[in-house]
Amino acid sequence: MNKVTHKPKGQHFLLSSKAKTLSIVKVSNMTEQEVFSLFCQLRWGSETDVTCPECHCQHNAYFISTRKQWRCKHCKHTFSVTSGTIFAKHKLPLKTYLFAVAIFVNAVKGISSLQLSRDLGVHYQTAYVLANKLRKALLEHRDTSPLSGIVDMDGTYVHPAPRKENKKSDRLDYRLKENQNPDKRCIVVAREHYTEQEKLADKRFQGAKRSCVFVTYSETQSVVKKIADSIVTRGSKINTDESNAYDVLIPHYDLRTVNHNLEYRSDSGITNNQAESYFSRFKRMYYGQNHKMGNTYLLNYANEAAYREDNRRKSNGWQFNDVLEKCLETSNQNNEWVGYWQGKRRHQEVLIQ
Ligand SMILES: [Zn+2]
Repeated sequence: MNKVTHKPKGQHFLLSSKAKTLSIVKVSNMTEQEVFSLFCQLRWGSETDVTCPECHCQHNAYFISTRKQWRCKHCKHTFSVTSGTIFAKHKLPLKTYLFAVAIFVNAVKGISSLQLSRDLGVHYQTAYVLANKLRKALLEHRDTSPLSGIVDMDGTYVHPAPRKENKKSDRLDYRLKENQNPDKRCIVVAREHYTEQEKLADKRFQGAKRSCVFVTYSETQSVVKKIADSIVTRGSKINTDESNAYDVLIPHYDLRTVNHNLEYRSDSGITNNQAESYFSRFKRMYYGQNHKMGNTYLLNYANEAAYREDNRRKSNGWQFNDVLEKCLETSNQNNEWVGYWQGKRRHQEVLIQ
């Protein structure tokens, strides 16, 4: 009888201990002082040399230990570790924010506000605003430097058609322009590949390295050109599907197409699978977790999926610190999430047209 031999396989990153450097239990075991120190470290890199949010002077401010606040020696302004940040005037204990960030980063396909409200024991409205503050911080701190090398580009439609009528005779033909859902939007993604050298240097570096997302009405030539001009270095290789909207890129880019009606991978090895894999995660997040995404904040959700996809091979402890740091670097000025449920909300969408 032939002996069956199994080739030793490398352990998947997500199964390794390197991927799991944070847990809810760890957060739960943190003392109040440890929580406070973490906020100070991530915001200022120090507990003593703090920066006054009013006059922006970094110094050893007078610490009022009973209130866990500082008084600026220059402008006499009194401030806390969250003053001026997206968590300013927080009503929940600091630790609850750590729980929220930990639950958020561990939910690799996104999390609904209802689930977050159950996990944190807070009202739905509180959880909704909190999750959206994290999304705002991620969006404001996204890397918008140009992509280069090999870039996959593609678009997918959300809210394409309203629910179908019961009777077939009552159903409209949604392919016709006049019957289209006015809420229909297109998410366009551009994803830069890891270079061959990067892949050789670290086996975690596979597939796409960085993604940029945009929301638009439709994947037209003018929109595609605007997006490529804003984010992709000229001369880069762009992989797309057969949509003729991308033909407009031919003069300035090395455009390579794969015809999905015939194949997913051309004979010369061209795919736009990195764009497809982003859409796959985004749609699982949409249908499986969030269920509803308003168009006003569609870009925030799309960017959340891009962040999760780009950092899929980084430990959850790294992601936890990164998200928290971004929140503490996000200013409370023009914060649309203050007074959201009191009606102070933004109605304009962020669209490329
Ligand atoms: Zn000051």
